[in-house]
Amino acid sequence: MSARQETGTATTHHVVILGAGYAGLATAVQLAARTKRREDVRVTLVNAQERFTERMRLHMTATGQRLAELSIPQLLEGTGAQFVRGWVTAVDAGARTVRIDDERELRYDTLVYGLGGIADTAAVPGAEDHAYTLSSAQDAELLADRLARLDSGTVVVAGTGLTGVEAAAEIAERHPRLRVVLLGRQEPGAAMNPKAGAYLRAALDRLGVRVRTGAELAEVLPGAVRLASGESIAADAVLWTGGTRTSPLAAAAGLTVDDRGRVVTDATLRSVSHPEVYAIGDAAAVPQGYGVMHGTCQGGMPTGVHAALSIDRMLRGRRPRPFRFGYYHTPVSLGRGDAVVQFTRPDDSPRQICLTGRVAVRYKETVTASPWPTYGRMKKMPASGALWPRGGRATRVRGAR
Ligand SMILES: Cc1cc2nc3c(=O)[nH]c(=O)nc-3n(C[C@H](O)[C@H](O)[C@H](O)COP(=O)(O)OP(=O)(O)OC[C@H]3O[C@@H](n4cnc5c(N)ncnc54)[C@H](O)[C@@H]3O)c2cc1C
Repeated sequence: MSARQETGTATTHHVVILGAGYAGLATAVQLAARTKRREDVRVTLVNAQERFTERMRLHMTATGQRLAELSIPQLLEGTGAQFVRGWVTAVDAGARTVRIDDERELRYDTLVYGLGGIADTAAVPGAEDHAYTLSSAQDAELLADRLARLDSGTVVVAGTGLTGVEAAAEIAERHPRLRVVLLGRQEPGAAMNPKAGAYLRAALDRLGVRVRTGAELAEVLPGAVRLASGESIAADAVLWTGGTRTSPLAAAAGLTVDDRGRVVTDATLRSVSHPEVYAIGDAAAVPQGYGVMHGTCQGGMPTGVHAALSIDRMLRGRRPRPFRFGYYHTPVSLGRGDAVVQFTRPDDSPRQICLTGRVAVRYKETVTASPWPTYGRMKKMPASGALWPRGGRATRVRGAR
């Protein structure tokens, strides 16, 4: 099939946003709301699915819990932004085009790259072929199907980071007949303060999760995992949560990326190699005073909003401003009936204060449910989405204005 090219007119500035995750959707709604009355600006959002993936709830999907149907095209109604459903297969940064499903081409003047990240199944042999992941709603549904068909047996959750903890707790709570083994190098909750970490581990224990720390996964086999020590653990299902990687598209396009394929940005979120490209969310390596941001929704949404504000400024002949963000919390669900919330300093190190139990469950649910209504509010009041902790001195990058 011949490639179809869609171009704007010579006077139209076309902003194309790749990825309608937490970050990309924030850019699309914020920018469309701010440029609604401008005939010379066109905003297009490209995403693999019409349904919004609540990534923060994928451990619920993986245990058969039904989530709300959130329609991206419906959300964009009335904003003027166009939605294109499709899989981005290439970016040509020289020609400033994006290829979709290998058959369609979109030209851009400004590109916003927000394709997120997926589980890095290349990190361990066999994970790609034999492990489940929480990379997408479809992947989580595959695991849900498998778990629903198991009457007994062992589920190995590989990776003791927060995704592994939330998944292990959820599986143990929803499938008490299954033996859940959570294994990884570090103690779960290792980055939390001692009280919050101890609470988290006690909750896993109460749910019957067997925790194996100091365990290095060497290989995922059909029906088992092999550790670096040589020990094998029989497993009826393996969930791999140990690390993430990003789409190879940015590197293939010649954008400067870091060792995880994230687009390296300057302080204003523009690609250091291609200033007409902004990078946001998990797909971006964003410098802050404390180091490079790591992928979270709490930081991803602000990057999305800030990119929109910067593009809006640029369209009005102004310079984009530096992006600054300070972390403030780490909410972790421990099944549906328990949770722990660690409050943090701007650099994400733990404070003394934390919430546990029912209060933490309510806090976590409020946070998890908040993005969608936030987008709705931003359609009418864009400024309402532009509030987040800037983090004070900790986030200041020397030399950035
Ligand atoms: C189980 C789990 C729990 C989590 N809990 C929390 C939490 O409590 N708090 C927190 O802050 N963070 C949490 N996170 C992390 C958070 O979900 C991510 O940081 C966040 O989703 C990043 O947003 P994003 O917009 O960059 O990417 P995503 O939300 O991943 O969105 C990327 C979008 O791009 C689309 N896409 C990708 N490639 C293509 C392509 N080639 N063509 C077309 N479309 C494409 C994807 O389909 C997706 O819609 C959790 C993650 C997981 C997996």
